[in-house]
Amino acid sequence: GLLIPRVKDMKATSRKQINAACVFNNKDFELAYENHTYSRFKFYLIPLIIVGLILVAFFCLLDDDLFTTNSFITVLAVWAVFIALLVVFFLTLGRFKNFRSYYLIINATELLFIGFYFVKLIVCGNKNFLVMCLEVSLIITIYSMIPNRWLNSLLSSFLLIIAFSVYCAIKPDLLLDRNTNIFGFASIIVFFAINSLNAYHKGYLKRSRYYDTIMLKRLINVDTLTGAYTRAKFNEDINKLIHKARQTGRIFSLIIFDIDDFKRINDTYGHLTGDRVLTTIVTIVTSNKRNADILTRWGGEEFILLLPSTRLNEANRIAERLKTLISEYDFGLDNIVTCSFGVTEFRKNDTRTTLFRRADKLLYDAKAQGKNIVISDVDDFQVIL
Ligand code: GH3
Ligand code: MG
Ligand code: MG
Repeated sequence: GLLIPRVKDMKATSRKQINAACVFNNKDFELAYENHTYSRFKFYLIPLIIVGLILVAFFCLLDDDLFTTNSFITVLAVWAVFIALLVVFFLTLGRFKNFRSYYLIINATELLFIGFYFVKLIVCGNKNFLVMCLEVSLIITIYSMIPNRWLNSLLSSFLLIIAFSVYCAIKPDLLLDRNTNIFGFASIIVFFAINSLNAYHKGYLKRSRYYDTIMLKRLINVDTLTGAYTRAKFNEDINKLIHKARQTGRIFSLIIFDIDDFKRINDTYGHLTGDRVLTTIVTIVTSNKRNADILTRWGGEEFILLLPSTRLNEANRIAERLKTLISEYDFGLDNIVTCSFGVTEFRKNDTRTTLFRRADKLLYDAKAQGKNIVISDVDDFQVIL
């Protein structure tokens, strides 16, 4: 699932959320993003890496020079090391299930690429400096194309360039005339810069798009003041519950409640106190409901609690308990704060409208009968049965 940060943690723009290393400042958010990315890439990541390794195998191990310039024992040793590394790699693949292992695979593969490249250089003794520069540039390009943390590909590219320079320095016979050397190294640096900027830009755009999407989802589905769900989310959820009830006969119930004389609280103590009462009531209900129950802020001070797999009797008990919890809660005001409740359960031919209309009527009855009470349609329903 997506980790949705609290509204107060969220800024309007994603720009401030992503740091210079192109990673979210918030660790949990980065984790959620990486899990999300990994879940989308894992299906083709492994095949991609396998193809890459097979290409490297051809490139390193079937090189003519390997066979012509080395003893049989050396060739055998190189192949043995390659196969052993591949076996270790594939044996551990099964353990890779989350994003952390995803970066482990990426880093391991990058190091393998570098390793094999130098095995090839040392054992096969490639003498063409410009071809070698092209190979280094190609490896850097591949790094930046794998969905990767920017810092990962940056570090392995650096490692590759430094190792390559050291290799050239200790084997000066590889180097050509001065201009060709400069051209070779310059082309590596240009490739490196282009790919690195591109990888950074891509990582940044993807993270900011992810952030904006989550932010929008959050604004659509969660009420900013209280943290209860919105009507948009409620409609989605109740449609699902109705669909399921029709298919499997799994009955759900609905509690609608409204704060009593809330206008007076606002008029007496001000709107900020009114807001605090709203938030507190949501906290009371949230900490006393089951995980599966869905609390929605329906209107200003009206709420709906959806109770999946719950019959009317149980819903009635829950409403009575909430009524008591709220009326006994110390809001720090002179008046006590109470709510009125209407409780009903899904019936066979209900639509969203008929269900809601019935609940609303019960709430209206509760208000008419003096407030701070629960009215459920249990009696009507038994007559109908
Ligand atoms: P009743 O017992 O019949 O429900 O009376 P009531 O005063 O609670 O009902 P009424 O619908 O007349 O008043 C609801 C008030 O809720 C009016 C509105 O100003 C206030 N309200 C709605 N949304 C908010 C909000 O977000 N914050 C605050 N502080 N007040 C709100
Ligand atoms: Mg009210
Ligand atoms: Mg109202």
